[in-house]
Amino acid sequence: MTNTQHDTDVILIGAGVMSSTLGVILKQLAPNWNMTVFEKLSRAGEESSNEWNNAGTGHAALCELNYTVEKPDGTVDISKAIKINEQFQVSMQFWSYLVKQKLIDSPQEFIKALPHMSMVQGEANVDFLQRRFKALSDNPLFKGMEFSDDPETLLEWIPLMMKDRPAGDNIAATKIDTGTDVNFGALTHKMFDYLVDEGVNMHYNHAVTDMKRTDNGLWEVKVRNLESGKIASHTAKFVFIGGGGGSLHLLQKSGIPEGKHIGGFPVSGIFMSCNNPAVVEQHHAKVYGKAKVGAPPMSVPHLDTRFINNQKMLLFGPFAGFSPKFLKHGSVLDLFTSVKADNLVTMLAAGAKNMSLTKYLIQQVMLSKEQRMQELREFIPNAKTEDWDLVVAGQRVQVIRDTDAGKGTLQFGTEVISAEDGSIAALLGASPGASTAVQVMLEVLERCFPENMAKWEPKIKEMVPSYGQTLMENQKLLDHVHTTSAEVLGLEEVKEKSTLLKQA
Ligand SMILES: Cc1cc2nc3c(=O)[nH]c(=O)nc-3n(C[C@H](O)[C@H](O)[C@H](O)COP(=O)(O)OP(=O)(O)OC[C@H]3O[C@@H](n4cnc5c(N)ncnc54)[C@H](O)[C@@H]3O)c2cc1C
Repeated sequence: MTNTQHDTDVILIGAGVMSSTLGVILKQLAPNWNMTVFEKLSRAGEESSNEWNNAGTGHAALCELNYTVEKPDGTVDISKAIKINEQFQVSMQFWSYLVKQKLIDSPQEFIKALPHMSMVQGEANVDFLQRRFKALSDNPLFKGMEFSDDPETLLEWIPLMMKDRPAGDNIAATKIDTGTDVNFGALTHKMFDYLVDEGVNMHYNHAVTDMKRTDNGLWEVKVRNLESGKIASHTAKFVFIGGGGGSLHLLQKSGIPEGKHIGGFPVSGIFMSCNNPAVVEQHHAKVYGKAKVGAPPMSVPHLDTRFINNQKMLLFGPFAGFSPKFLKHGSVLDLFTSVKADNLVTMLAAGAKNMSLTKYLIQQVMLSKEQRMQELREFIPNAKTEDWDLVVAGQRVQVIRDTDAGKGTLQFGTEVISAEDGSIAALLGASPGASTAVQVMLEVLERCFPENMAKWEPKIKEMVPSYGQTLMENQKLLDHVHTTSAEVLGLEEVKEKSTLLKQA
């Protein structure tokens, strides 16, 4: 076992979509900074960012009903939907920049246009969807959204879901053609390929095991080479903990006060994947339904066309599962070892407060394949059991922290935790996740490099023209962003595909 010392400007821990996004942004802003990446697996994008481990929805709040809540007076609050849409537009602008500048190529390998739809059943839900549609369709960010409760129109939009449905089912949907399916795994690979070409040091099969501040204000990171067993020390001025589910343990090792009193709770995802190409061909959309009462927001059921390795697929889910692991390739001790003296009370309070979630997870874990098929049949009435296989997706580690709402509150969003001096930042949480990676990484920069932001701003605006503005209030820029992304990322063919489906 040797212990050698290496110095670098930036260390990125984990080779998922978050580290790759931050790495590429930093390469544009500070091209001379040395960057080193440590990834414990043998490839990039093998955990949550892998195409099979997430749903690949470009979350722009076009179809996810949990981003629009009904207020007590019956109006629909669309503020969260606006925020998420604006954040997704930031990602689209950045990805367009990468393609235009030829930093990455073949955008069709990571993004495809796909209608996003919401579908509900029952009088009260149809009424809610109509009010939600009215609230959103007045907003320029949601331009082009359509509503229908007409069975003929719905048959055109979603033939697989409407066929063999009992007459008289009260059902309605909204549809918007500017949705996307994103292969975050492919995107991650493309961004790391670019970084390697730019001289970034990538170390696969290297696990970060510990870190501490040095007397001269640097971070010393201990890294184990999983092939040789050797441990080496690397120092850096700035460390980003992009370890996905592994981030909480690493944050705890950093010992920064901002990382105290935070816990994590893992929820795994299970999808059903259709193995019958004739069925796959009959659907062309992401269709989000309504979460069951008591279900957490990330288990909203959806029937998704996906494009994986240039093949059209059809997935339904996610069903929630429970595993104490924080990463799919993690350890069964992860949950246990994340409990420390400083977060014990927070974790216990969360346990006591979330009995309904625990009950829900137990019910989900106990579901048989036939019971899962029953849920699928709410979407595809004549779905055949033999056409569907179970696929285990990634782990989401939900953040638990003490908030104004009380001790041990379970958070469903994404959170950046950073040291006061900006020398280290970690990303926790998983939703809306990869879709908002660019906005979240810009937030990391604002927090950790405030002294550089004025100097960097012109370049950031070149990458993200809407930086510092809200598109909702700038129709001209919004139109420009939509047109440019559609052209550069090749998203124009959606209308054509929808028309083909209608004719099929
Ligand atoms: C079921 C499911 C569905 C989802 N659906 C969507 C969706 O539709 N749209 C969307 O935008 N987002 C979705 N997400 C969220 C999205 O997948 C994540 O937000 C995103 O992939 C997180 O990226 P990351 O880089 O932070 O983590 P990851 O991709 O998990 O990467 C973290 C990396 O860090 C490595 N690592 C961890 N610890 C160490 C260590 N100690 N040393 C070295 N390396 C380490 C891991 O091996 C891993 O490669 C979904 C997630 C799940 C689980």
